[in-house]
Amino acid sequence: MVQLQKPKFVYMGGKLRAWDEAVLHVGCEAVTRGLNVFEGIKGYWQPDGRFGIVMLRHHYERLRRSARLLHIPCDWTYEEYQSAIFELIGALVEPARDMWARTSLYVIEGHWGEGTVADLVVTAYHQDKQPPQPIHLGVSTWRRSSDVALPARIKTSTNYQGGRLARIEGRFLGCQDMVLLNEWGRVAEATGSCVLLVRDGAVYTPPATEGALESITLNLTEALARSSGIDFVRRPIDRTELLVADEIGLCGTLAELTLVKSIQGRSLLEESPVLSVLQARYLEAVRGIIRHSAVELTFLPSCQPVRRVVDR
Ligand code: PMP
Repeated sequence: MVQLQKPKFVYMGGKLRAWDEAVLHVGCEAVTRGLNVFEGIKGYWQPDGRFGIVMLRHHYERLRRSARLLHIPCDWTYEEYQSAIFELIGALVEPARDMWARTSLYVIEGHWGEGTVADLVVTAYHQDKQPPQPIHLGVSTWRRSSDVALPARIKTSTNYQGGRLARIEGRFLGCQDMVLLNEWGRVAEATGSCVLLVRDGAVYTPPATEGALESITLNLTEALARSSGIDFVRRPIDRTELLVADEIGLCGTLAELTLVKSIQGRSLLEESPVLSVLQARYLEAVRGIIRHSAVELTFLPSCQPVRRVVDR
């Protein structure tokens, strides 16, 4: 049985509220049509005692892009967005526990695109520190919706209906996550992350035009690969390339870089020499152990540094 955390506070309507008071009306479009856009963001404790949130400005910009596409007004400046997050995380953060937060714009007023009003809501959850464990991955019979139906490049909850069905399908197959193919039968992405595969030492991933979210972690992974001397190529990927890949991984804010131990019931090699290097580099960079110029961290003002970290 899944146990979801019930943190003490939620940011909603411009202030912190008790968890049980953070409710939406059944009549609003956020409920009737699932109308919202959101971002999942992650914050890590740093060796110098600060709490660093990864790529916050990039998440804000993607939130605005998602909102623009769905005609949802986003009246919050970056500073207002940041201060809402600081307020909630500052109230909930605990020593040595990292956090994942969902920042959403829920449509609370309006009808079929007229008089649309949104509210910025932030929920934040504690996260364990251990690196992600390797998983069994399947390929779903459910497909990613096409760009002319529900555009996958943006982050809106309705895009996750297919992913939910794929996860249910995967559970019966013993798979912790599933790949969704696009309308052309090629690899789009997993249910909450992007797909990476390795062939002959190079990393391949499909571009967003293949039906994937415009991922921020994927951009970081590309930068880390390049500075580690690993070729990184974005191109369409056939389903059967998954079956002949040397290594497979998933990347995303929450997935970090998760290694895959089997694909559709076929075991992959025990070692993932290329992706495990990238996984280690990613975790070192977001945790501030070995900083990387591509990995931008925004520090929670209430947590001050205690000693200097190494910049690379
Ligand atoms: N695809 C989907 C469907 C996702 O939910 C996520 C997680 N946000 C990603 C890809 C990876 O995106 P990001 O690196 O920006 O977290």
